Amino acid sequence: MQLYNSLTKTKDTFVPHEEGKVSMYTCGPTVYHFAHIGNLRTYIMEDILDRYLRYSGYEVKRVMNITDVGHLTSDADTGEDKMLKGAKREKKTVMEIAAFYTEKFFEDCRALNIRIPDVIEPATSCIDDFIKVISSLMEKGYAYEAGGNIYFDTSKLSQYYVFHNFEEEDLAVGVREGVEEDGNKKNKADFVLWFTKSKFDDQELKWDSPWGVGYPGWHIECSCISMKHVGEYLDIHCGGIDNAFPHHTNEIAQSEAYLGHKWCNWWMHVLHLNTNSGKMSKSTGEFLTVSLLQSKGYTPMEYRFFCLQSHYRKSLVFSYENMDNAKIAYKKLISKIAALDPSGEIDRETFDAQKASFVKALDNDLNTSLAVTAIYDVLKAKTNGATKRALLADFDRVLALDLLQNADALRDAQKEEAPANKSPLAEKIEAMIEARRMAKKEKNYAEADRIRAELSAMGVTLIDTKDGTTYTVEGEA
Ligand code: AMP
Ligand code: ZN
Repeated sequence: MQLYNSLTKTKDTFVPHEEGKVSMYTCGPTVYHFAHIGNLRTYIMEDILDRYLRYSGYEVKRVMNITDVGHLTSDADTGEDKMLKGAKREKKTVMEIAAFYTEKFFEDCRALNIRIPDVIEPATSCIDDFIKVISSLMEKGYAYEAGGNIYFDTSKLSQYYVFHNFEEEDLAVGVREGVEEDGNKKNKADFVLWFTKSKFDDQELKWDSPWGVGYPGWHIECSCISMKHVGEYLDIHCGGIDNAFPHHTNEIAQSEAYLGHKWCNWWMHVLHLNTNSGKMSKSTGEFLTVSLLQSKGYTPMEYRFFCLQSHYRKSLVFSYENMDNAKIAYKKLISKIAALDPSGEIDRETFDAQKASFVKALDNDLNTSLAVTAIYDVLKAKTNGATKRALLADFDRVLALDLLQNADALRDAQKEEAPANKSPLAEKIEAMIEARRMAKKEKNYAEADRIRAELSAMGVTLIDTKDGTTYTVEGEA
């Protein structure tokens, strides 16, 4: 498998340390709020890697942390503690916030068919591991105490700036803004391993340490959690592109200083999902979550399909128009699959040939958009329905788009539907759509909007296409 490696900036054949086995680490969520659909794009693309490695026969051990302490609003150790901010916002304790949003995160993952990692580890349950590694870094002279905090001394490394040459806008904002420079640091790039004299008097979670009562910095969490579960050699580390610097750079610095050897050979970074107005945010503009999409009539599988249509190393723009196109395409795809006649014998030759082009697409740096094209090629192939369904089931082990499940559900629903008579509800909706069309024609946009809002309150989402308006009703397939 050819996979781009952010460390070498080349696409190379992926080779794990141990034949047939892959250790994979993915930076987990900071559980102070819901995940936005941008965060979830990253998790979906990491899920594709996880699933494809398994599909290719590897035994995968995937570890993910849950950041429930130590992550400040700026990745450069300045700003507010995100968890405290969340707790204050909701007048709850930090642990209540963490438990609530961890659960919500996994609900989103389940809805999006993101495999739950083999190991999930909250940072707050690894304090002893952090202290052990920080103590060793102190002994080895890689860390120092200043102003009550423990810092990593980046000047001790022959090379610190890994991943520093991405496009400016892709990198974390904190470093560039440099809002408050921390006067304790010996070098600008040094980072906190352990906070004691925190500027947060009200810090809720504190632990005893050789350097006083305090709490860990965010970067040390991922290094320690990875080493705790997969040992000294990690095969592949993933995250969104904003994590590349300083987070991943700092992870490499401290892990390799601690271990005394190279730690992780492969780094995969997923580019951002942006809106038309720029970066996706939890605090400004519309807070785009999976449940918001659902309330607007888009299913999680339609969002997953939207993500898979583009490559993980390209940034992607979210708009409702793009989402509508994905929705229409997914629905069409499902109805085509539903129309297949499942009877017949599997034609091995066609199966193998079609599978080979699917594998070729994913072997080429996880080209999911070509893998999606491979689905359409199957549908067009000159073979029977049984072979096509077998291929789709096989592809869906990686794509996880519920292709056959949704097609079968649609078929069942179609069977049950009264064939001739339209329901009174459908008649009413169609009459309102026609009234809206007339209002728009007369440039009475206020009336058109009012009708749309009325339909929306009835659970009806309109989809305007160049061929007219179609609709979906909440809860209906
Ligand atoms: P956080 O919960 O902020 O720690 O972020 C969780 C994951 O989402 C990290 O891997 C981030 O790099 C990633 N991420 C943050 N913003 C975006 C975005 N707009 N698009 C894609 N991934 C993102
Ligand atoms: Zn991390």
